[in-house]
Amino acid sequence: MNELSDLVRRFTVREIVPHLPGWERAGEVPRSLHAAAAKVGLLGVGWPEEVGGGGGDLLDTLTVAEEIILAGGSSGLIAALFTHGIALPHVVATGDSRLIDRYVRPTLAGETIGSLAVTEPDGGSDVAGLRTTARRDGDDYVVNGGKTFITSGVRADFVTTAVRTGPPGSGYGGVSLLVVDTTSPGFTVTRSLEKMGWHCSDTAELSFVDVRVPAANLVGPEGSGFVQIMRHFAGERLSMAVQACATARRCLELSIEWCHRRHTFGAPLAHRQVVRHRLAEMARITEVARAYVWGLAAKRAAGQPVTRAQVAMAKNTAVAACDHVVDAAVQLHGGAGYLRDSEVERHYRDARIMGIGGGTTEIMNEIIAKELLDAGAG
Ligand SMILES: Cc1cc2nc3c(=O)[nH]c(=O)nc-3n(C[C@H](O)[C@H](O)[C@H](O)COP(=O)(O)OP(=O)(O)OC[C@H]3O[C@@H](n4cnc5c(N)ncnc54)[C@H](O)[C@@H]3O)c2cc1C
Repeated sequence: MNELSDLVRRFTVREIVPHLPGWERAGEVPRSLHAAAAKVGLLGVGWPEEVGGGGGDLLDTLTVAEEIILAGGSSGLIAALFTHGIALPHVVATGDSRLIDRYVRPTLAGETIGSLAVTEPDGGSDVAGLRTTARRDGDDYVVNGGKTFITSGVRADFVTTAVRTGPPGSGYGGVSLLVVDTTSPGFTVTRSLEKMGWHCSDTAELSFVDVRVPAANLVGPEGSGFVQIMRHFAGERLSMAVQACATARRCLELSIEWCHRRHTFGAPLAHRQVVRHRLAEMARITEVARAYVWGLAAKRAAGQPVTRAQVAMAKNTAVAACDHVVDAAVQLHGGAGYLRDSEVERHYRDARIMGIGGGTTEIMNEIIAKELLDAGAG
């Protein structure tokens, strides 16, 4: 195990695992966790030192996510503690020192929390159709509209918000990104949403009524929001793929341990051929998914070309593996697997979002099909 993996495992066992059931019940993680994670350098992994990060590459970022789950954490915990992974990359990519000093550095230092708000009540998959408007008025934009399903939105200090700066019907070319301070008059968290899983990760419905945002908070050029969102989706999707594989692996490990320990009809479950073959299938599916996902991540980290379709295949493959394994793990645990607060039960519920968030399984298939068919037409 390398130094980073060891650090993450020790942090997870000490600072996360004992508190996770309480945070699941509370519906959020405390700000003190962000401070503690920043202190040991975890929040800054994979972010350049020039913006307050600790350096490292995509593989380091993915290692952090994998090890948290393997050490007893969860994908919900990662969603809550590392929301900056989706809220900040666009801001960092602009190189805008004012925005970086104001939003990136304090967040990587564990002092502030940021969210990314793209999805609206009318739809999430069709990003180019979003309706929240931002009208230019002097040195400000005036924002009106609503967002929903926003991770960490209840606790956020700022929200990187996708808005329509173009006229109605302007499609993807009319979308921009604006950083909105949550203390701005007219900004409201209208609801904290209750969910099937990811209980420790707060999820918000947001309302914007005549919210004035300095034009200097525009991220990149006006009209570039859609392209920025799509560009940074790759990192989010690979992270979700890694989390899905890690969840499967953790559930396999928990199941093996359980099958050695649990006796029925005078013998451990692990002695039954049907059980052994089920475990073998869980392992095969997990390992094959993991090899593809990490192979692709390594290519991307090395700067080799990786297509959107390949990333979509990685996400769908990992999600399918995870869905299969969490279901089998609950079954092998019997009634114990159905009890609230048993780890496999939490993973079973948490896993269900993987095929929805960051682009649904169907949207991933659309991306794959488009690349296939466009190539055929060419
Ligand atoms: C817990 C949680 C956290 C989230 N966090 C965030 C966040 O931080 N920020 C954010 O912006 N969003 C977030 N989301 C939103 C998430 O990205 C969306 O839910 C997702 O993109 C799907 O959008 P939708 O829910 O509007 O479904 P819809 O787009 O309405 O889709 C509904 C169904 O129709 C299918 N479908 C849609 N279009 C097509 C098509 N063309 N062909 C075939 N099938 C199609 C979809 O696959 C899906 O099965 C979060 C969601 C959840 C549940």
